[in-house]
Amino acid sequence: MEFRDLKAQYAALKDEIDQGIADVIASSHYIGGAPVKQLEQELAEYVGVKHCITCGNGTDALQLALMAWGIGKGDAVIVPDFTFFSSGEVVSTVGATPVFVDVLEDTFNIDSAQIAPACELARKNGLNPKVVVAVDLFGQPADYVEIRKACEEQGLLLLEDGAQGFGGSINGKRACSFGDISTTSFFPAKPLGCYGDGGAVFTDSDEWAALIRSIAVHGKGSMKYDNVRLGMNSRLDTIQAAILLPKFHAFRDYELDAVNERANWYHEALSGSGLKLPEVRNGYVSSWAQYTVILSNNVDRDILQARLRELDIPTMIYYPKPMHEQKAFEGSCLSLPCHTAENLCRTVLSLPIGPYLTEADAVLVAQALISQTM
Ligand SMILES: *Cc1c(COP(=O)(O)O)cnc(C)c1O
Repeated sequence: MEFRDLKAQYAALKDEIDQGIADVIASSHYIGGAPVKQLEQELAEYVGVKHCITCGNGTDALQLALMAWGIGKGDAVIVPDFTFFSSGEVVSTVGATPVFVDVLEDTFNIDSAQIAPACELARKNGLNPKVVVAVDLFGQPADYVEIRKACEEQGLLLLEDGAQGFGGSINGKRACSFGDISTTSFFPAKPLGCYGDGGAVFTDSDEWAALIRSIAVHGKGSMKYDNVRLGMNSRLDTIQAAILLPKFHAFRDYELDAVNERANWYHEALSGSGLKLPEVRNGYVSSWAQYTVILSNNVDRDILQARLRELDIPTMIYYPKPMHEQKAFEGSCLSLPCHTAENLCRTVLSLPIGPYLTEADAVLVAQALISQTM
């Protein structure tokens, strides 16, 4: 069984994807070709923001946002303690200090009540709190009503890390539109993935969009060989854009519904099993980047994974270590108490999911999990 079945997806979309790749090769416009512009327009329209700027990957997308805002030494950026490393890494990369805060157990997302105390901690340490990075972990948007309120009270910018959240929504408003700047990743296993690395930045601000377009191409000014600031080299290849176009259409037209149907299969099959199942809040839609259950404390997770592996059921631990315990941040981060994040790291287990998961496989996973944990 595949953890996320990218082969089945390719089989379904092969003709369009192969044609798209062949057309790019024939055109020889490998960088900045027409499919890149078309993709940016279609994604901006779908998300409901004015600008989409594609770039090299989801990590660069976050860094581009922080660079556009001039975040650096002496600044503090508030980041959830339970997320992929990039969400905090970019803060240190630009010279600022990450302040890690706890998450909510029911959504895995940042606890907005921690934003004010995190600002206080930063100020006490002589830092200026500037930004909150809110992550749409495992596909469900964070609580942007409460987060936005806290940002306004504290005078903070909001950066939505939608690397796992693309396609999710709150009352019909789509993920990647909630931040002052929002980002996503097209890493192959994300809800919308390409066949290599890729990412995008979204914003309604003309000024920030122009800055990010400049920073992503060596700080270009009026043209490529007029460099007005230090930047990066971070672009989405035309071939990746050509792959993403048919994949985006499938995602929009039926894959997002299909993956939600599969999450419902799990929910029904595992209800009453004693496992804590992922909950999607009222009015929220998840894009199910992961289907992550919480095991009770007495389950030996290593043994469970090994038994499932023997049954050809792949599982993953997202994530085994909280951010504040990562060696890379040793002595260079601040942290509030993060007991929920610590506990999640010990008890989470992510199951195979994706729009191409078969019903037979979902049943197999659920039955194996029940018989191994009861
Ligand atoms: C994958 C991921 C990123 C980074 O994206 P890349 O394209 O791999 O650089 C950032 N944040 C989160 C939450 C992610 O899951």
